[in-house]
Amino acid sequence: MTECVECGAEVSLPDSLEVGEIVDCPTCGAELEVIDVEPPVLESAPELEEDWGE
Ligand SMILES: [Zn+2]
Repeated sequence: MTECVECGAEVSLPDSLEVGEIVDCPTCGAELEVIDVEPPVLESAPELEEDWGE
């Protein structure tokens, strides 16, 4: 368990957590990138605004 950096809610993490993985906050829906796993550190994932099939 760690905290969502956006809303502060607890976010449950999978056992197989890996750095670079994206976890969705179940409370606010924010995408959180795993920065570190021991201990788990989450950071707000940047919005992807690249050419999405345009
Ligand atoms: Zn949240």
